[in-house]
Amino acid sequence: MDIAATAQAIQSGERRALARAITLVESARADHRAQALALLAQLPKEKQALRIGLSGTPGVGKSTFIEAFGLMLIAEGLRVAVLAVDPSSARSGGSILGDKTRMEQLARAPAAFIRPSPSQAQMGGVARRSREAVALCEAAGYDVVLIETVGVGQSETVVAQISDLFVLLLAPAGGDELQGVKRGIMEMADMILVNKADGDLAAAAQRTRADYAGALHLLRRRPQDPEGYPLAMTVSAYTQAGLPEAWAKMQALAAWRRENGHWIAARAAQAKHWFLEEIRQNLLSSLTAEPVRGILNSLGDQVARGDLRPEVAAARALAAMGRG
Ligand code: GDP
Repeated sequence: MDIAATAQAIQSGERRALARAITLVESARADHRAQALALLAQLPKEKQALRIGLSGTPGVGKSTFIEAFGLMLIAEGLRVAVLAVDPSSARSGGSILGDKTRMEQLARAPAAFIRPSPSQAQMGGVARRSREAVALCEAAGYDVVLIETVGVGQSETVVAQISDLFVLLLAPAGGDELQGVKRGIMEMADMILVNKADGDLAAAAQRTRADYAGALHLLRRRPQDPEGYPLAMTVSAYTQAGLPEAWAKMQALAAWRRENGHWIAARAAQAKHWFLEEIRQNLLSSLTAEPVRGILNSLGDQVARGDLRPEVAAARALAAMGRG
């Protein structure tokens, strides 16, 4: 790949170049990694998209919402990219964005870029590369990058570390239960959107919204957030009711954070987090690669036989790795 030409093509908005570049950053091959780093280094830093993390369990209407929301943003003249962080792919080989029929209209819009989720690799790996994919979309001039994930916990933490805003999408609940949403995910949410607030589900959606508004109020108010956030609203991806209001609230929060320095501070903290995470992941993967793996196995066997004390064996292993 011609790195300089690709960097140029990405910045001039060529979607095929962007797609190829994302494939490059997702690749585990060492030569691809070197090219990916060279490419990322060539990208301008001044363009900043609004990065919106969107989480919700399967069936709440994420793809329907993203399609309606994305088309609304495009109608406002914005360019929209959609990426996915998909923890399920690590286990099943499946993909939450793999189904090509999802977001059909949005996928056809020239101002949109939809990226199916990576199809393999382990969670940390996928997540790190998702961040790089976001950076590529920013360089390509997308105004809004939607980063989608399913609500299982680990991936939310990752998405929150990539996003400027974190939105949790819920469906109306039948009873008064809080749908088993993990507390940690609630704590990350800047906004909860109760989808499907239409037809027969409208009243239940309002009740669910009220329940979550109460729960959010009890949970926390971040000192760095303006009055009224985090908030819970109802939307309908079908009728588009509430979508302009939700977008207005997202923009207001983003603007407030920009004006008060929290935006820069949050991005700086995220950059530092990913710097350390990159090192952590690299060190961890060196443990499972030869020759270290063999050394650890053999020392581990000696520990198991009682020939070596664990701490002595560990000291030897670290010395063999040059870290003694
Ligand atoms: P995802 O698994 O979270 O991506 O959810 P989907 O977007 O595939 O939607 C799951 C189901 O909910 C589908 O049958 C949709 O037609 C339905 N759905 C999505 N949005 C709405 C909505 O706003 N109102 C209603 N009534 N149904 C919706």
